[in-house]
Amino acid sequence: MPELAAVLVDQVNPGTNRVFTYSIPPELAARVRCGTKVKVPFQQRYLTGYVTPEPAPAVPGLRPIAAVLAEDLFTPQDWELVRWLAGRYLCHLVEALRLILPPQVRNAGPTERRMDWVVPTLAPQEGRALLRELERRAPAQARLLSALLAAPEGMPRARLLKEQGAGPESLKALIRRGAVALREEGPALEEEACGHELSQGKLPELNPAQAQAVSAITAAIRDERFEAFLLHGVTGSGKTEVYLRALAAALEKGKGGIVLVPEIALTPQTLERFSQRFGSEVAVLHSGLSARVRYAEWERIRQGRARVVIGARSALFAPLRRTGVIILDEEQEPAYKQEENPRYLAREVAIFRARQDQAALVLGSATPAVETYFQAEQGRYRLLALPKRVGGRPLPEVQVVDMRAELMAGNRSIFSRALTRALDDVLRRGEQAILFLNRRGYSTFVLCRQCGLVAACPHCDLALTLHNDSRRLVCHHCGFTREPYRTCPRCGSRLIRDFGCGTERVEAEVARLFPAARVLRLDGDTAGRRGAYDEILGAFSRHKADVLVGTQMVAKGLDFTRVSLIGIISADLALHLPDPYAWERTFQLLEQVAGRAGRGEVPGRVVLQTYTPDHPSIACAKRHAYLDFYRIELSRRARYRYPPYSEVVLVRAAAPAEEAARRLLADLVARLGPLEVEVEGPAPCPLLKVGDHFRWQVIFKGTDLECLRRRLAEELPAMSAAGQRMGARLSVDVDPVSYL
Ligand code: ADP
Ligand code: ZN
Ligand code: ZN
Repeated sequence: MPELAAVLVDQVNPGTNRVFTYSIPPELAARVRCGTKVKVPFQQRYLTGYVTPEPAPAVPGLRPIAAVLAEDLFTPQDWELVRWLAGRYLCHLVEALRLILPPQVRNAGPTERRMDWVVPTLAPQEGRALLRELERRAPAQARLLSALLAAPEGMPRARLLKEQGAGPESLKALIRRGAVALREEGPALEEEACGHELSQGKLPELNPAQAQAVSAITAAIRDERFEAFLLHGVTGSGKTEVYLRALAAALEKGKGGIVLVPEIALTPQTLERFSQRFGSEVAVLHSGLSARVRYAEWERIRQGRARVVIGARSALFAPLRRTGVIILDEEQEPAYKQEENPRYLAREVAIFRARQDQAALVLGSATPAVETYFQAEQGRYRLLALPKRVGGRPLPEVQVVDMRAELMAGNRSIFSRALTRALDDVLRRGEQAILFLNRRGYSTFVLCRQCGLVAACPHCDLALTLHNDSRRLVCHHCGFTREPYRTCPRCGSRLIRDFGCGTERVEAEVARLFPAARVLRLDGDTAGRRGAYDEILGAFSRHKADVLVGTQMVAKGLDFTRVSLIGIISADLALHLPDPYAWERTFQLLEQVAGRAGRGEVPGRVVLQTYTPDHPSIACAKRHAYLDFYRIELSRRARYRYPPYSEVVLVRAAAPAEEAARRLLADLVARLGPLEVEVEGPAPCPLLKVGDHFRWQVIFKGTDLECLRRRLAEELPAMSAAGQRMGARLSVDVDPVSYL
């Protein structure tokens, strides 16, 4: 019977980023083991903490554990994962541990509930009256209230604040006004979390490529050995059917499986396919669920009642005890990177976890990340290819339209003549079209034609976007909004005009050119309301609209059989961003969007508008030539030594005073001393100022950054403290996926 326990206290603080030894009072001995949540004396107060399997050396002045709060929250194997996460992504142990704790245990005992659900409390009429009043004086409060008025059943606090770009103080002010209240939990268990009718019909017969993939994957599952597969299948090639068979094989073996999909693709359509096959074995985990539903799902998984877990990246940490297969659909998606501590990349974590569990790992994609395909070429992942669409359907034909020529021919519309004609055809035949533009709002920026001033956010160095629906100028970075200018704030001129194009303007243009067409728009603005996303997609799939205009929300995973035309309004939007992944992202997005066409009986076509038709991202997307693009991109990566040719660690400092950010990084580089790595910077970030903070960065590159990570772990506590004194914040991003 051990008498000592190694406890990690639940506090993010450099001084507590290690375990402390406590003695175990005899009356608690039966309950204290790895995974027990405890109350412990710490300096002059009590803290909660977690018992770990670490060695617990006796030290002088031992104090006893005061109480047991919960048991069996994690296993020694989970703890191994926590240690690895903290080491690789340079976060605190407790930050990593929080990833695997059940949703409601993180801050309270499992029986206590958090007040994390916000509901509107005013009658709709009063609410709208207050909204009008707030719109002028307190825009952040107005946004929160407006979102809640649209969601009478309320929504989770964290999601509300994040989506509306508002701070907790705005919410508090609304509570003081009596307009909203905090409650303990969300609405009753939602349908999506429950079981579905099992489909009784027989399974589709696999085509030879699918059969080969399934047999390779199931062999690993049956032998209970780790093996990583890259399932490279064009859009519509039947990858999901392969996932379903792999999951069935895991269940047969008495194990379970985890399927990650990008949050945005967690549509009812996607869930339906899994629920039809596996019924109540399916559990769903994602951030849109209320705390109560999430906890209920977590419990079902832990108790072994649900063994097929579907979710966004955090579902990797589901308490599935026997895992036979882990699947990442659309493995190249940047959504698999968590952009806050711990800044993990789900693909890397999945490899670690699959190894731990002796499970098969399936990375599926039509456009694998260059890093992933490279691993497959090197033989570290086994390549399984589904080169053709199911049922012999052709990939859609892509017509590239050079917008420079349109302009020269006197067409100043945002629609080329080819796109207008194609839309006209589709509407006349009673088919459907999707128009894609990855930017919301009406126009991109507002300019004074007298003095040249571009209206910018006062908190960021970014142009404000005009939103016509709400008649406001909006900063897409910090959420700041204001009334549109009538006169120039600098020279007083009235020659203020908006330029560029967002989804609102595309919608307006369709309405102008085709007044009879029924148009729906799906973007961050229209989908903000709870349930709106599903409503819009549902209406479109029931053919309640002819044209769907949208941002990347329309690009992922949707399967509409009547869609015969995809219009890409501007393929160049993200192509020239100062980000090493800009080319790849553009190619992937174009392929994905194009893949939405021609999924039914009607063949599909794509009209792609661009100012740079010869760019590799566009020329390769036109031919659906993944491998050609891969080769070009790979040689570019080699030239600039980006992954897969090196690992990258991106360290950033942000401060209200630019000099503080620069100096903190310069000091850090100096303290790290000579290292066998390439150091770029300190230099200003491509987006220098965001939310009143100036940002600088250093990029470290090397073929093995283990040593750098160790040195950073040693220096960071002191450097963060030094930063705090200067008003600067340090952040470390290992395996970054965004450089903006
Ligand atoms: P992907 O995930 O690769 O885009 P899907 O799995 O969505 O492709 O498959 C496209 C369509 O083909 C789906 O409607 C699916 O039900 C169907 N399908 C998949 N495999 C087969 C098969 N072997 N026989 C018949 N239909 C299939
Ligand atoms: Zn002016
Ligand atoms: Zn801003």
